[in-house]
Amino acid sequence: MKPLAQPTPDTREWFALIDEGRLTVPRCRECRAFFLYPRSSCPRCGHRAIELVDAAGTGTLLSFVINHRGPEGFVPPYALAIVELAEGPHLMGTLRAPDLEAVEVGTSVRVAFEQRGDRRVVCFDMERAA
Ligand SMILES: [Zn+2]
Repeated sequence: MKPLAQPTPDTREWFALIDEGRLTVPRCRECRAFFLYPRSSCPRCGHRAIELVDAAGTGTLLSFVINHRGPEGFVPPYALAIVELAEGPHLMGTLRAPDLEAVEVGTSVRVAFEQRGDRRVVCFDMERAA
């Protein structure tokens, strides 16, 4: 099976919501900054009041690589992407697209989830052209 992240005390709630099919983005209650990865204090102002806000579920492809060989569980070719979420923070995940060779930086993507055992992992789907 593909690997799974091991939650830490600071990321446990965030991963538990992903397992329920909800992507959230941590936001500072003091300065309102969104950030990722989840942590116990704001990377901008240091405040420790953090809330998890449901993500819009959309983003823009910032960078990607197409892997033609992969570790156990991954069927090549597959794309690994860095996405700028609508809220601003960046998140890495697998990119699912009908034609990987047609993928371009700047394309709109939508958050999706891949089931791995009893857990879920965030991935991204290419937005269909209107
Ligand atoms: Zn802050």
